[in-house]
Amino acid sequence: MNDLLVIGAGLSGLMTAYTAAQAGLRVKVIAKGLGALHWGAGTIDLFGYAPAEPKQPVARPLDFVAGWLSAAQPQHPYSLMGAEQVAAALDSFVALTAAVGLPYGGSQKPSDNLLLPTAVGAARPTFLAPQAQLAGDLSRDEPMLIVGFAGLRDFYPHLVAENLAKLGQQARAVLLPFDLLTTRKDSNTVQQAQGMDNPAMRSKLAAAIKKVIQPGERAGLPPILGLNASVQAWTDVQSQVGAPVFEIPTLPPSVPGMRLFIALRDKLRQMGVRVEIGLEATGSSAGDSGHIEWVETKTTSRPLKHRAHQYVLATGGIMGGGFDSDHTGRVWEVVFDLPLTTPQQRSKWFRPAFVNPEGHPVYTGGVLTNAQMQPLDAAGKLVYDNLRVVGDLLANDNPILQRSMEGAAVATGYAAGLDLARVSRN
Ligand SMILES: Cc1cc2nc3c(=O)[nH]c(=O)nc-3n(C[C@H](O)[C@H](O)[C@H](O)COP(=O)(O)OP(=O)(O)OC[C@H]3O[C@@H](n4cnc5c(N)ncnc54)[C@H](O)[C@@H]3O)c2cc1C
Repeated sequence: MNDLLVIGAGLSGLMTAYTAAQAGLRVKVIAKGLGALHWGAGTIDLFGYAPAEPKQPVARPLDFVAGWLSAAQPQHPYSLMGAEQVAAALDSFVALTAAVGLPYGGSQKPSDNLLLPTAVGAARPTFLAPQAQLAGDLSRDEPMLIVGFAGLRDFYPHLVAENLAKLGQQARAVLLPFDLLTTRKDSNTVQQAQGMDNPAMRSKLAAAIKKVIQPGERAGLPPILGLNASVQAWTDVQSQVGAPVFEIPTLPPSVPGMRLFIALRDKLRQMGVRVEIGLEATGSSAGDSGHIEWVETKTTSRPLKHRAHQYVLATGGIMGGGFDSDHTGRVWEVVFDLPLTTPQQRSKWFRPAFVNPEGHPVYTGGVLTNAQMQPLDAAGKLVYDNLRVVGDLLANDNPILQRSMEGAAVATGYAAGLDLARVSRN
């Protein structure tokens, strides 16, 4: 029997599985499908915006977590774990990405948020980003050449440059021919990135950029520099162009997120962790016993029971499929029917103003836990002794407004994995 069954293969589930497996636990991951890594920017947003008006980016998110957040929101998942453990989780993530050959880094000023350009030329605070995005940091001085491709959907370099200029950045744009990327008439960034795994394709691209870039400039591209050999592709293009090159994430599917998913999944498999996608958990043995014996999954042929000593629920919140709802506004957690703080009336899900500084209760609601990520009921009583809950399922987080979802996934996954390792030693 496995020591641990992780349900969900988003960032929080993968981080839990890695932390526990590294500590020697026998781990299996099951998931209905792919997580939000395939949708986001592939960065780690730790804390982007303070809950105050006017909305200002947080400059030093770890200091913010240790200071303001811990005092003002002691039930926030970061406050429950403590800023030191959040910092340790991020260090562990950075070491993991280096070990899997997809290194992540932060601002040149240690502990500061990066400010990276979006695909419409806005500035986005984030704490960690893959190496290939780091030269886009808006706190750097070099002027930018934004490189687009005629006919490529969802990346308009002139729009990006124009909006960056409004932020006081020196930026200009150029459109290169689409056939530098692919001869396919209809392709998305994933297929273009796969094309750049081929060294001959990237040499052609680098030569074209070299012709248009001016001395002292850095070049910003959509995220097309390789999928399986992305670090090699980025390094090659940058050295052949002879200037810093960075990627700007575009709309889903997310190439940077897919690279991270592939790297983490492969690492887990090398460590002996089974990662099985296509298994939807539909129920469990959990009743009033306070202890979980098995989790049931639906497959095309027959239901399966998965048994382990410990369980981690990482099924995402309202966005990831971890919660379901019906026309009455009732919201429930789908595998263990855990108690939720989410309002159970539809009229209470949203505040009247769409852009409300406090956010909307449907997103801030979720599962209450203690510092070990064990689920609690409204009275603060432990619900199951062998279950942990991580990531987007957690209550008292305001992740959309605060831009903290991936940071919370990494931090809570790490905290749960570490605590499970401690429990298994005792
Ligand atoms: C479009 C989009 C853009 C985003 N952009 C940002 C951003 O810019 N910044 C930011 O901080 N965050 C962003 N996020 C969110 C962020 O990426 C995730 O919230 C974060 O990575 C936490 O993920 P998670 O592991 O908790 O859940 P998820 O990544 O949602 O993973 C949930 C996992 O559980 C599985 N699952 C669900 N139900 C079941 C079930 N019944 N049985 C088995 N498996 C199940 C799913 O298949 C999936 O594998 C974005 C999310 C989306 C959707």
